[in-house]
Amino acid sequence: MTTMEKLTILTDAAKYDVACTSSGIDRRGKTGQLGSAVKMGICHSFASDGRCISLLKVLMTNACIYDCQYCVNRRSNDTARAAFTPRELADLTIGFYRRNYIEGLFLSSAVIKSPDYTCELLIETLRILRTEYGFRGYIHVKAIPGADENLLTRLGMLTDRMSVNIELPSERSLKLLAPDKTKHSILKPMGLIANRIQEAHHDLVRYRNTPKFAPAGQSTQMIIGATPDSDWDILRLTEGLYKKYGLRRVFYSAYMPVSENTLLPPKGTKPPLLREHRLYQADWLLRYYGFAADELLDERHPSFHPLVDPKCGWAVNHMEQFPVEINTAPYEMLLRVPGIGVRCAQRIRAVRRCHSLDFDGLKKIGVVLKRAQYFITCSGKIREGLRFTPESILRALISEEKQKFVVSDIPEQLSFFSTPPVPNSSDTTNFPELAQKEA
Ligand code: SF4
Repeated sequence: MTTMEKLTILTDAAKYDVACTSSGIDRRGKTGQLGSAVKMGICHSFASDGRCISLLKVLMTNACIYDCQYCVNRRSNDTARAAFTPRELADLTIGFYRRNYIEGLFLSSAVIKSPDYTCELLIETLRILRTEYGFRGYIHVKAIPGADENLLTRLGMLTDRMSVNIELPSERSLKLLAPDKTKHSILKPMGLIANRIQEAHHDLVRYRNTPKFAPAGQSTQMIIGATPDSDWDILRLTEGLYKKYGLRRVFYSAYMPVSENTLLPPKGTKPPLLREHRLYQADWLLRYYGFAADELLDERHPSFHPLVDPKCGWAVNHMEQFPVEINTAPYEMLLRVPGIGVRCAQRIRAVRRCHSLDFDGLKKIGVVLKRAQYFITCSGKIREGLRFTPESILRALISEEKQKFVVSDIPEQLSFFSTPPVPNSSDTTNFPELAQKEA
């Protein structure tokens, strides 16, 4: 098999991993125009300074000894298999880097022979790159669950970011669909990486030249929509992972059906992209807005309303906490107002030290009044001419959201495992406060 054939198979097999952003576009070049794009091979990540960097996204091999039912590389799947040697992959990476195609490498792998053997292949590839070629570009590597601790430690010394994919949100789902994996075998390397990162930070304080361990931290990926786990289950797990393992990011990957299995959505089912989007929004609320998972969802309402973003959903359900007076409210409460983001809340805090703010002033500093107007007062007054009830707020928020999405895509999002039906504008599903009032 030629290197090009291997590259085609192993970049295509890597496209399902979303722990960085794939281009996702296939576009041929045209005479008289510049450039072309392929949907696999190159992905993008963001450096700590916000710069977008291109990475070669590839698997070491797709020949897996495991049989995870949701995965295209599973042992029982009849698909073309390939494997790079460490030297081949290092040469390829350096070749692309020298031609300026990429700025780094995103390396993952199926489990070939054993987790230890696979981990050794990854280590050898990175060793050639870092020590023989002196490669100082960005590397993100997937840790292999079940590999020996010493091997994982060596891997972490050669890479910038490590990740262990948690894959499915519950142990029950893992048992059903990935019987070779256990929650323990996934969380153990995560804990090890978290400890090593912390130790390296402490050592750095005392010894300036101490070697760094995964200085860009660790992340994980969860598949959404392959199993009946609810948004609430996923969000609580996410919250726990951030707290316990200090993860930089949890990535959500809408499940693309790749196998005929009665336990999985059938082939042809559209990936639940809107649900994935809502989870990313909620994840943002956990990390930057001071929300807890149990505030956003609960046992009675375990799924996000598809047409209202999670922050608006929370606000409509907690009208007793509004309106918020813009000129005096604590910063933490400003962050909870729909239409006010972190930057706007900071600007409000800075400006109101000098003079009080009115609605025009808020617009100038970037507040989205279309959403915020229902939840705020300026110097004790609501926006002039504004008349609303909780029901009309919900209708307005839904109609605003509907403009952002192709509504015809929404039913597929909701058909899995009886998540709430597509609401009409007066639907109060997921809004217990409103439901009670209507009753
Ligand atoms: S171990 Fe990874 S590559 Fe192998 S079948 Fe499971 S998910 Fe796929």
